Amino acid sequence: ARWGTGPAGGFIGLAHRYPRRTALIDELGSLTYADLDRRSNAIARALAARGIGEGDGVAIMCRNHRGFVDATLAVAKLGADALYLNTAFAGPQLVGVLERDKPALIIHDEEFTGLLSSATTAQRLVAWVDSSDPGETLESLVSGDARPVSPPKRHGRIVILTSGTTGAPKSAPRQEAGIDAAVALMSRMPMKDGWRCFIAAPLFHTWGIAHLLFAELLGTTMILRRRFDPEDALATLQETRADSFVVIPVMMQRILSLPEETLAAYDLEGIGSRLKAVASSGSALPGDLALEWMDRFGDSLYNVYGSTEVSYASIADPVDLREAPTSAGKVPWGTRMRILDADGVPVPDGEAGRIFVGNGLLFEGYTSGGGKEVIDGLMATGDVGRFGPDGRLYVEGRDDDMIVSGGENVFPQEVEDCLMRHPLVADAACVGVDDADFGKRLRGFVVLVPGADSDVDAVLKDWVKENLARFKVPREIVVTDALPRNATGKVLRRELATWDIEAGSNGERAA
Ligand code: ATP
Repeated sequence: ARWGTGPAGGFIGLAHRYPRRTALIDELGSLTYADLDRRSNAIARALAARGIGEGDGVAIMCRNHRGFVDATLAVAKLGADALYLNTAFAGPQLVGVLERDKPALIIHDEEFTGLLSSATTAQRLVAWVDSSDPGETLESLVSGDARPVSPPKRHGRIVILTSGTTGAPKSAPRQEAGIDAAVALMSRMPMKDGWRCFIAAPLFHTWGIAHLLFAELLGTTMILRRRFDPEDALATLQETRADSFVVIPVMMQRILSLPEETLAAYDLEGIGSRLKAVASSGSALPGDLALEWMDRFGDSLYNVYGSTEVSYASIADPVDLREAPTSAGKVPWGTRMRILDADGVPVPDGEAGRIFVGNGLLFEGYTSGGGKEVIDGLMATGDVGRFGPDGRLYVEGRDDDMIVSGGENVFPQEVEDCLMRHPLVADAACVGVDDADFGKRLRGFVVLVPGADSDVDAVLKDWVKENLARFKVPREIVVTDALPRNATGKVLRRELATWDIEAGSNGERAA
């Protein structure tokens, strides 16, 4: 019982089972499972000496590196709660979360020192050092007394923030991973004992944390890089001979957008033949992107649909994605899903409605109070979708993103996917803006492929009209250099809708 089932428990077990196995590789080198165990014991003792114990909150604001993992394990060993902060937070968002959740201590990378010192008076400890004099650091604690701490009576919670796509990010705590459901997910996606898994998705997001927990279950080697860079990612996949690659869709998009001569410098075939699972989640995977990726790197792509609150809900495997590239696949064993109408009644087969999910992984409610609607034990995802005749789930978009234009319902995602299929378009977004006659009218934003003529208005409108329907054609199409995205790669449609397009085609932001 010493290593129980809490988030740290599996790692302690692994340290006994495979002490010399590499647990983690980052820019500083590699660590074994025994190293992780010792380091987190020493850190746990040092944190306890600072007064941290069961039920206290410790915030972690780190990029993907050993400090994130060390901090997570040490906090779990004390029965304290780990609150994961998004590294892309700006001042007011950060202050809002810290004031609400009040961590007793913050473990953070040195680059966030300035931001944090103006946001909070909580104790702080630097995890990744950039300068010569960071003060006391996490690394300086690992050489201390590394005997195990006495096991806590309470399991620490992990508190993950939603992405803040629709407003302020909400903190969604959960007791511990629902191991059954996690195993069921893995049974649909090859993730094997001893694999080298490059986790490029941010660890603070629910998709990244899930893979830290898989490493715990399987004894995989986690490959971490502090920042995502498409070329560095290819170099990492090649050098580490990675077996699996955990991404958000925009990462694949950025790799595929590298110039041909850059791509040619890497052994893409070798990388692709070694990769047995490329797992994407966090936002919708455009069908075109799925096919282009598989054509380059082979049929090992998986699209996982889920959210911070419900964890995961469905998974598309490479066969699903070849046959139905826009689908979110099937609902795995251990998970229940229903499509309900506005009154909570199941819709007829094939019709669109609100997606509800039940598994062992539903969160407990936001730390700010409230939660997602629950009907018969199934929780609302906040998305609208339908089951196709092929039994696969098709997610149409968030229910609050739906644009009602002239009495017709339009999901921006469908228009965006259509625009992105046009050869001149590299990236696209669609928003609803107020319109006196139609309630809302559609406005499209496109980033063009390099060298394309910017006079694309008529061409793209015709394209949407031919492929979708007249009422789904954006009234205006704005050419821009880049789309605003959050740290999980989601387009910030609410921000885009406020762009003052008169001020220039690059979308000057309105004050
Ligand atoms: P907030 O709740 O703060 O606005 P958020 O909803 O973006 O942020 P997350 O929990 O990170 O926070 O995102 C979950 C949402 O992302 C899902 O509800 C869904 O809309 C979208 N999503 C995630 N994965 C997929 C996928 N594979 N296909 C389609 N949509 C997805």
